[in-house]
Amino acid sequence: SDYRLGKIDKKETTCGFCAVGCRFEMWGKDGDAIGVQPVKDPAKAPANNFSTCVKGKFGHEFANSDERITEPLVRNDDGEFETASWDEALDRVANELSAIQAEHGVDAVGCLASSKGSNEEAYLVQKFARQVLGTKNIDNCARLCHSTTVAALQQTLGYGAMTNRINEDIGGADAYLITGSNTTESHPVLATRIKQNVRDGADLVVFDPREVGIAEHADQYTRTKPGYDVAWINGLIRYIVENDLHDEAFIDRNTKGFEKVKEKVQAFTPEKVEELAGVPSEELKSAAETLADAETVVFGWAMGMTQSSNGTQNLLAMADLALTLGQIGKPGAGLSPFRGQNNVQGGGGDMGTLPGSLPGYQDPANPEVAEKFEDAWSKRPPEEPGLKVPEMLSEAHEGNLRGMYVVGENPALSEPDIQHAEAALEQLEFLVVQDIFMTETATHADVILPAATSPEKHGTFTNTERRIQRVRPTATPPGTARQDWEITQELANRLGYDWDYDHPREIMDEISDLVPIYGGVNYDRLESGDEHGLQWPCWDEDHPGTPYLYDYEDGAFNFDDGMARFVPADGGHPGELPDEEYPLTLTSGRVLYHWHTGQITRRVEGLMSHVGESFIEINPSTADELGVTDGEYVRVESRRGDIVVKATVTDRVSEGTLFIPMHFAAGAVNTLTQENFDPHTGIPEYKVSSVRVESLGMD
Ligand code: SF4
Repeated sequence: SDYRLGKIDKKETTCGFCAVGCRFEMWGKDGDAIGVQPVKDPAKAPANNFSTCVKGKFGHEFANSDERITEPLVRNDDGEFETASWDEALDRVANELSAIQAEHGVDAVGCLASSKGSNEEAYLVQKFARQVLGTKNIDNCARLCHSTTVAALQQTLGYGAMTNRINEDIGGADAYLITGSNTTESHPVLATRIKQNVRDGADLVVFDPREVGIAEHADQYTRTKPGYDVAWINGLIRYIVENDLHDEAFIDRNTKGFEKVKEKVQAFTPEKVEELAGVPSEELKSAAETLADAETVVFGWAMGMTQSSNGTQNLLAMADLALTLGQIGKPGAGLSPFRGQNNVQGGGGDMGTLPGSLPGYQDPANPEVAEKFEDAWSKRPPEEPGLKVPEMLSEAHEGNLRGMYVVGENPALSEPDIQHAEAALEQLEFLVVQDIFMTETATHADVILPAATSPEKHGTFTNTERRIQRVRPTATPPGTARQDWEITQELANRLGYDWDYDHPREIMDEISDLVPIYGGVNYDRLESGDEHGLQWPCWDEDHPGTPYLYDYEDGAFNFDDGMARFVPADGGHPGELPDEEYPLTLTSGRVLYHWHTGQITRRVEGLMSHVGESFIEINPSTADELGVTDGEYVRVESRRGDIVVKATVTDRVSEGTLFIPMHFAAGAVNTLTQENFDPHTGIPEYKVSSVRVESLGMD
C-alpha cells in the first residue's frame, strides 16, 4: 500500500470535481484525506499551476464522511437493506442478471457507467456490458450534459471534443464569446484564466439569459431569451458574411458547405433575431464586430447551450460561426466546450460508455474495428446502437428493460421529471447500484456495492482539454468498500470470464492497444518527470500528444479529405412555452459550492455553510407581481409536479424568468422539468420549463 501509518502521505493527483482537471498535492493520514496543497512545480499542473477553487481545496472531506457505505447491502424479503458479505452480494448480482437475460434476452439488461470514476473503470464497465453481458445498452451521464456538443463537433470538425488548451489558448485569446456557461461558478479556475486575460485587454462577450458571474467582467453582456440560441448565432453569421468580415481564405482552403450555411442564415435578419431571441440589433452588430476584429477568438459554452431540444443545432451553429471566422486550429483560438464532471471527457466519451460507439469513438459496425475487439475480447461487441439513458428508463417503465447495473450515477435526481425516473427504477426486476453513498437512486436498489472515491484510487482522468492525467490515492476506502475496477472484475469472473487485472495500469495498456487516440498513453509516460499529462490524440509511444486540434499547417480536420464541414443549423421553439396556466419560464443550473446532484458536496459542512438549501431566483418586478418577498418560501409548480423553495429576489434573471440550482434533493428542480429531448442525442431540455409560483407567506 502507498499509505504509511502515522505519517502524512503526500501525492500529486487530479481534482475529482470539475473537468478543468486541476492538479495538486493531496495529503492523507490514517486512511483519511486531510488536505490539499499546490504542487511544487507549477509545470506539473498545466491547467491550474498553483490555483484551486473551494471545491478542490475543501471538497475532499466527503471521502471521510460517516455516511459512506462501508459494506455490501442486499434487500431482504421484507424489503429492508441488510449488510451482506461480498460473496453473497456479488453472487446475487450475477445470478439475478443471468436469470433476467436467460428469460428475456441479453438486451433486457442495461448499464450506466460513471463520468466521475477513472478511465480504466469506465472502460471496464463498457467491456462488462458488451463482452460479459453481451448487451448493447450502455450509456452514461454525458448523455445529459455534452452529448449535443459531441454530435455537432463530430459532424463539423471530426472529433467531438474541445479543440484547444486551457492555459495557453483560453488563457491567451484576444476575444471570447461565452454563452450558456456560468463559468465562474462551474469552472472557477478556468474562469480565473479568462478574467486575468480580460483584465490584460482581451475582449469578452457574454450571451446568456441569466446575468451570471462571468458577465460582470464582460465588455458586452447581452441577455437572451431561453431556448432560441440558433437564432442569435445564425444572426451573427449573417451579419459577418453580409459585411464581408468572414475569413474567406480559411473557408476556401479548409472547409466544405459554406454556401449552404450562407443561404440558411439569410432568414435570421436582425428583426427576426430580436423577435426570437430578444437580442437587440445593435448588440448583435457590436458582438459580430468584436469577434471579427479579433486576431484570435475562443468560443466557450456549457449546459445553457447543450441542454436544449435544439442542442445539436445550437452547437452546429456555433461550429459554423467559428469556421466562418477561421478561428480553429491555431494558438489562442478554438471551440471550447467546458465539460462538467472530472472525467466526463474520458469516462463519459473516450472510453466508449456510449450506445453505438466503442472506445475511442470507433464504430462497432465497421468490420475491421469489430474484428480488432473480437480478437482482444474473444467476443464480438454488439453492432447495433443500444438504448440511451432516457430510453433505458422509458423501457424500464414499460417493463421491457428489467435489470440495470448503475455505477456512480444518480438518475433518480438527474433525470428530467424525476417522478417518472423513480417509477421506472421501481419497476425494474433487479437494480444493482455501485456507489459511495445512499443516493436517491440507491434507495431503489436490490443490491448496493460500496465503492471507492477519487482520493482512494489509482487511475487516470481526462480533463476538458483532452489531457490524460494520473490520479493517486492518499486515503483508503472505509470498511470493506472496494475499488470500482475490482468490483466489475469480480462480477465478470462470476459470470464466466477470467479477467485478471492487478492494477489500473494494466487496463490502460489494454486501452492503448485498442484505442488509436490513446495509442501512446501508458503509466510510465504519465509518471515520467517531463510529461505533464498527455493530450489525445496520442498515436504511439513517440507521439507527443496534440495540444490543439486541427493545426492549420497540418491542415487536418478529422475527415478523409481533411476538410471541415459547414452544416446549416435551424431551431424550433422549446418544448414548452409560457401560457396562462404556467406563465413563467424556469431555467436550472449550478452554484459554486455544489456539484451535480449534490451527493458529494451536500456532505461537506464547509460547502453547505455557504449554500445549504435550494432556492429560486426571481426578478424584482416579477416578485412584486406575485407578492413574493426576498427570503420567503414559495411553491413552484409545473405540469409534472411542485416543490417548495426559498425565494431570492434578484435582477440576475429577467422579468418572467426564474432560476433554481440542480444540486438538492429537497426542492429538486427536476421535479418540474420536462421529458422533451433533442432528437439527435436524447439530451433533455432542462433549461426551459413553464411554471407558476405561489407565495406561501412564510420565512
Ligand atoms: Fe477542482 Fe474544477 Fe475547482 Fe479545479 S476548478 S479545483 S478541477 S473543481
